[in-house]
Amino acid sequence: MKDQQIISGLQIDVSNALPSVGDRRTVSGTGSLRLEDVYDLDFEPGDDVAWKFQVRRIAGGVEVTGSISGVVTLACYRCLEGFEFRLSLEVREHALWLSEAELEEDEEPATEYMVTDGVLDLEPIIRDSICLAFPAVRVCDEACRGLCNVCGANLNLEPCGCDTGHVDARLKPLEELKKRLESG
Ligand SMILES: [Zn+2]
Ligand SMILES: [Zn+2]
Repeated sequence: MKDQQIISGLQIDVSNALPSVGDRRTVSGTGSLRLEDVYDLDFEPGDDVAWKFQVRRIAGGVEVTGSISGVVTLACYRCLEGFEFRLSLEVREHALWLSEAELEEDEEPATEYMVTDGVLDLEPIIRDSICLAFPAVRVCDEACRGLCNVCGANLNLEPCGCDTGHVDARLKPLEELKKRLESG
């Protein structure tokens, strides 16, 4: 019961859970992640993605190590359809724990992660780790044909038959000749 109060979801009450340097705890959880934007994830209850971290109190902060695995649905750049991306990654991050005075003096702390009011929020760590693991080119398949730029049909499903106006440069002289013959 005690654990549920000091570790609720993604929030860890560090002052109570890890009172001294060297103290450690294992934190695990699951969620479903919805992609809002290119690098914007929203957490929802679910079990598509699972994480397990060891959170350790260190001098001046907290160290978070562990792993994240599961599946996130991304949108294909070419055809815009959702496709499943399988995650399996290791996490090793630090969160700084500064006093109020130190915070004011150092306007831009060197690390992005902070223990605020004695509480560590794991959500930004999980979010950033997952976004960094995404493929640089998000396509459902290397061979994805994308959308027709005339009618918008998904060309993976069926050819739409549109004249996309694209003519191979090498065929240009032949096309010119055809036009001349037709008009003459
Ligand atoms: Zn695609
Ligand atoms: Zn078309």
